[in-house]
Amino acid sequence: MPKRNIVWIRNKDLRIHDHDPLLAAEETGYPIAVYIFEPGFLKLKKLEKRINGHRYLLLSLLALRQEYIRRGSDLIILEGRAEQLLPQLAKAWKIDQVHAYRQYEPAGRAQENAVNNNLSCDLTLHYGETLLPAESLRNGSGSPYAVFTPFYKSFLRSENISPPRRAPRQLAPLPADIRLDLFSIVSDDTLFDFESALQKLSSHDSVLDKPAQLLPAGEKAARQRLKNFQQRLSTYISGRDRMDQEASSRLSADLSYGTLSVREVWHQVKAHQPKSPDAEAYLRQLVWREFAYSSLWDRPDLLQNPFREKYEGFPYQRNQIFWKAWCEGKTGYPIVDAAARELLATGYVHNRARMISASFATKHLLLPYQDCEEHYLRHLTDGDRALNNMGWQWSAGCGCDAQPYFRVFNPTSQAKKFDPQGVYIRRWVPELANLSNADLHKPREKTLSLFASNATDYPAPIVDHAQARLNFLQLAKEHLNPNSRASSHQRK
Ligand SMILES: Cc1cc2nc3c(=O)[nH]c(=O)nc-3n(C[C@H](O)[C@H](O)[C@H](O)COP(=O)(O)OP(=O)(O)OC[C@H]3O[C@@H](n4cnc5c(N)ncnc54)[C@H](O)[C@@H]3O)c2cc1C
Repeated sequence: MPKRNIVWIRNKDLRIHDHDPLLAAEETGYPIAVYIFEPGFLKLKKLEKRINGHRYLLLSLLALRQEYIRRGSDLIILEGRAEQLLPQLAKAWKIDQVHAYRQYEPAGRAQENAVNNNLSCDLTLHYGETLLPAESLRNGSGSPYAVFTPFYKSFLRSENISPPRRAPRQLAPLPADIRLDLFSIVSDDTLFDFESALQKLSSHDSVLDKPAQLLPAGEKAARQRLKNFQQRLSTYISGRDRMDQEASSRLSADLSYGTLSVREVWHQVKAHQPKSPDAEAYLRQLVWREFAYSSLWDRPDLLQNPFREKYEGFPYQRNQIFWKAWCEGKTGYPIVDAAARELLATGYVHNRARMISASFATKHLLLPYQDCEEHYLRHLTDGDRALNNMGWQWSAGCGCDAQPYFRVFNPTSQAKKFDPQGVYIRRWVPELANLSNADLHKPREKTLSLFASNATDYPAPIVDHAQARLNFLQLAKEHLNPNSRASSHQRK
């Protein structure tokens, strides 16, 4: 008799293509796909903690359910504690095996352990959130890598990534004796209602007073994005740092929620332009993603602590005026403000703009990187604990392979270099649209009178760049080398 297998779909594998748990369940019997919302998750207060990511999740889940229905089956969406509900379902539906993807974030790991402990049938965990299992690469002494380049070299040496797998054309219908009425089913209408509520909420946050305009969610849109990116792959190296161009893939939310498998992206990009420098540069970014997951796997405490111990207790300041100005895009530094407003308006920020904005927040304004990390998670559609934490720790200087503390981005020269015509700034800071390029890229201190004569309400710089830089360097030096503080006190 064919087996009955549950495919437990989680929040990072919302697709039907290249889905190992589904294929494994199908190969040995009837796959019964379930998605489980934790109790209390479907509440606005909870959902708004990742306002745009959750909109993307809800819509992608609805789209996935339609794919299951189109193929003759269904995706059962339930509410409950996975570690209690899955054992109950397994018993009630006479399940032989549960298949799922393993996850690398601490919460996901804890959840799958709890499920495994309670289940009376087998739980098979497949890997697929990353290209290689997160724990697989080790340095010569068997320790995790703390620096990217040797990690990358080691990745390339052991690269043997299996090809992506097909999506089933047809799925067996759900067994007729499966009772759903015993469990708490979540309807499509409920999910649509929450998505609309989140959309409205996102407009309150936006300076534009409009809901954030996200990229279309769901697997079909993700697959189209991948195709579009392949067409412009040859501009990746020349354009990826340019904030005025759309040269990067824009696949980050698809990789975060798994509407695309990273293995499929890897192979498709490779196959499209074998050995081209642009493809290589792009694939290298995917290895940065591996590096972030691998670091979090080995150091789950990174979500609470800096990678470099010396940074513990760094004297960040919770200055409410700075915080509000940074979040709302009103610091008086056009490129920093453009990044903040792009985030609120689209749930996305260009990578170079993330780096500039994060450096400014943590070094010029001394805002705690952890607060900024939460703000990004709240608004990013691609918000991902591993990557976001690595990005923030890198920018603040406290992460693995991070920017050294003494590298403080100059926002004006960064803008001049990576947005030379001011296209990005003008798009998100329309108050400055009429300025010439030369004026747009002048150090802000020198343009104050100009702004005043244009009668714009764009704010004056909230801090002086040179002064803020020196202030940060002094603080960092004292905190990171306590001896230098002692000796300078002695000298006084
Ligand atoms: C402060 C800060 C916060 C960040 N937060 C996130 C986040 O929450 N989620 C997220 O996906 N990325 C994050 N990043 C990394 C990066 O900015 C985004 O992945 C990228 O901008 C997404 O656009 P893309 O898909 O067009 O990138 P592409 O250039 O096309 O890159 C391809 C893929 O590689 C991965 N990638 C790219 N850059 C990095 C990187 N620096 N580190 C690790 N992986 C990378 C992503 O999965 C990305 O989709 C953050 C970076 C910084 C500096």
